[in-house]
Amino acid sequence: MPDISIVIPLYNEEESLPELTDWIERVCTEMSYSREIIFIDDGSTDESWNVIKRLSKDYNDIRGIKFQRNYGKSAALNEGFKAAKGNVVITMDADLQDSPDEIPELYKMITADGFDLVSGWKKVRHDNTFTKNLPSKLYNGVNRLISGIKLHDMNCGLKAYNKKVIKSIEVYGEMHRFIPVLAKSAGFRKIGEKVVVHRARKYGHSKFGWERFINGFLDLLSIQFISRFGKKPMHFFGLLGSIAFLIGFISVVWLTVERIMVGADFGLTNRVTFYLALTTMVIGTQFFLAGFLGELVSRSAADRNHYLIEETM
Ligand code: UDP
Ligand code: MG
Repeated sequence: MPDISIVIPLYNEEESLPELTDWIERVCTEMSYSREIIFIDDGSTDESWNVIKRLSKDYNDIRGIKFQRNYGKSAALNEGFKAAKGNVVITMDADLQDSPDEIPELYKMITADGFDLVSGWKKVRHDNTFTKNLPSKLYNGVNRLISGIKLHDMNCGLKAYNKKVIKSIEVYGEMHRFIPVLAKSAGFRKIGEKVVVHRARKYGHSKFGWERFINGFLDLLSIQFISRFGKKPMHFFGLLGSIAFLIGFISVVWLTVERIMVGADFGLTNRVTFYLALTTMVIGTQFFLAGFLGELVSRSAADRNHYLIEETM
């Protein structure tokens, strides 16, 4: 088993790859780590795959996976995680924005300091202030609030993991932005961060646009929902349903009492309470229905009895 697996997802990064590989090899040789570099070519349309093939002739620790088409960074990371054999797994972007010089310190934080996951923190960022830096600050703030994980830069591509972590989680959709959240919900609590050097993009252009913020936010909600209520959806919908239904029911009682007191010219349909009763009871029932359906779905899920076991004796 190698000391380190370096997992690198890439999409049209032909110019960066040779420089990146040389640099990683230099750092790892200096520290005499045994290693494997796993490139996952996410359906590049440029020469990236040929460059990787060529590099594997110079270095015998290079492995490659090529997707038939572009599936996204999460899919690439997931395949890389499945293939990784090293005791410590380090992910980094292929565009040279992350510095391989960080590898030794990250490795040490996992092996010696016992962290499950260490996330890079691009404290000084070399990207556009308005399209990347400011939105990212806001985004990380919301993230911290919702997930309860105190990281400044959740979506940093440069991260180090104990092997156990990456073998326990599944990354899909756009979930690569929230791997610490996935790790936490899998029961890994020692999550740290390290300030890392961030460099301006030397070649090519960013593969992510503004829509990542909307999608990212929706994904965060999904992750939170699934990790809290995935196995018991009724606890979520049942609570909302009960509250709505209760408000409706109290309104009906209220209206009935008033009707009896006031008499025939009460004007039931002119009352705000009437409409409140109507909508909340309908919504309440809908919530219950969603809860029951959710329970049925989770009962028939193939992994309903899938638990992560840390140790047995
Ligand atoms: N990437 C990928 N598949 C995609 C988009 C991006 O594998 O569909 C890779 C990309 O090649 C790079 C990393 O993910 O290695 C980060 O992408 P990028 O540098 O464009 O993101 P940014 O730094 O602008 O957030
Ligand atoms: Mg980048």
